[in-house]
Amino acid sequence: MNKDIIQPPEQCNVAIIGAGPSGLAAATELKKLGVESVIVLEREAQAGGIPRHCTHSPFGLREFKRLYNGERYADELSHQAIKSGVIICLKSSVIAINKGAILELSTPTGIRTLIAQKVIICTGIRETPRANRLISGQRPMGILTSGALQSIIHLKHKKPFQRPVIIGTELVSFSSLLSCRYAGIKPIAMLEKNSRITAKWGVQILAKIFDVPIFYKTCLHNIIGKKEVEAVEINIKCSALKKKKERIKKVLPCDGVIFTGEFVAESSLLRMGHLDVDPSTGNPVIDQFGRCSDSDYFATGNMTHPVETAGYCWKQGRQTAQQVYASLKGELDPYQKRIHIISTSPIIKYIVPQVLALTVKGDYQSGKHIAMDCFQIRVNKAVKGRLSIRSGAKTLVQKKINSLPERRINLKLPCSILSAKNDADIPLQLHFESR
Ligand SMILES: Cc1cc2nc3c(=O)[nH]c(=O)nc-3n(C[C@H](O)[C@H](O)[C@H](O)COP(=O)(O)OP(=O)(O)OC[C@H]3O[C@@H](n4cnc5c(N)ncnc54)[C@H](O)[C@@H]3O)c2cc1C
Repeated sequence: MNKDIIQPPEQCNVAIIGAGPSGLAAATELKKLGVESVIVLEREAQAGGIPRHCTHSPFGLREFKRLYNGERYADELSHQAIKSGVIICLKSSVIAINKGAILELSTPTGIRTLIAQKVIICTGIRETPRANRLISGQRPMGILTSGALQSIIHLKHKKPFQRPVIIGTELVSFSSLLSCRYAGIKPIAMLEKNSRITAKWGVQILAKIFDVPIFYKTCLHNIIGKKEVEAVEINIKCSALKKKKERIKKVLPCDGVIFTGEFVAESSLLRMGHLDVDPSTGNPVIDQFGRCSDSDYFATGNMTHPVETAGYCWKQGRQTAQQVYASLKGELDPYQKRIHIISTSPIIKYIVPQVLALTVKGDYQSGKHIAMDCFQIRVNKAVKGRLSIRSGAKTLVQKKINSLPERRINLKLPCSILSAKNDADIPLQLHFESR
């Protein structure tokens, strides 16, 4: 066994599952706040999470006020955590979570048990692969998600294809473009089913610079090729061609397909455990403090929502650590009453937090213990209209939106109902009206 691999102890104050940006940020913050033993459990042989295999920038501006590539950024996060006294146990997978903050681990020396006072789940997300997207065709080589592509290029130093097609235009799709460029791969096109790209910030300039066309209102229909990908059949919506009532099918020769985005929570642990899971997304049900249905468990980072930037998850990790610290010191209200948010519209893909905990001490209003001050909402199609949170006939908060799938929509939490004096126990409704 590698001497550098630390074996997890039997007990600790806080156990953190996952050494990505959110887990490492939470761990470092807890040590800074004075928590004695903070253990990070990571299944891989190296800490840092997804950024480990992103050789491109930008990472680190929010956290270190410096521009790093993913690899350097991951090293810097691990370094900061270790320097502050965090113990990172590599090659240690959590295989079960139990009541009483008891974790079962698979480690290089066998199965072990770790008993913590509090646990933070930071296991991140994974992309939706081909099978779950129900794309027809054969099963040739050369079909990857962007995560798999980046680990093949950056960790295994291999080049899986020369002329792939990229499916999607999320931020991560442009990250794949950068990885292709790094490896000398020239994608032939990016396909986007909507009429504009999903990522913000005008990143389509990258596609222009690298001379990769973006085909809008276009879906992948079929993958052609027996041993290797030979072409893809695409489906272009009529309005994209200015010909009404027509759908055009076209064949694009290529030698690979990169499925990007459409992230889902890495929640296999949760599905087997006792925590409440949002059935529509697989994310853990959390309150505004990041607490799960068992208050010994918290969740943070991408595992609580689809992909955000590393800096966003890092900040969220720190904020959740502050809640965990407050909870260890008995300063966070125990559960009194929790109000569920029920979506009344099929266009809502998810909302986080899914429940609001009423607070006795009124700390929510003082801002002392706020992990989240907004709901994070995403829709499943391009929409224009008004979102509102209602309690019966009363509108508590509302916002006009013009959004695409996978884009984050922030909606203020309705602070006025968060006092425990409020005895209303009817769920709140998240309502959408199109315009
Ligand atoms: C391809 C790609 C490119 C990106 N490019 C950028 C970029 O340029 N800039 C930017 O700011 N952001 C970028 N991002 C987003 C950024 O990487 C994520 O926001 C960030 O990594 C999320 O951090 P996290 O800690 O929530 O999860 P992750 O980084 O996913 O970390 C989760 C960790 O948990 C571990 N884990 C999971 N299950 C277990 C278990 N059971 N036991 C033990 N360990 C477990 C995993 O091994 C992993 O290390 C990119 C994302 C992707 C997918």
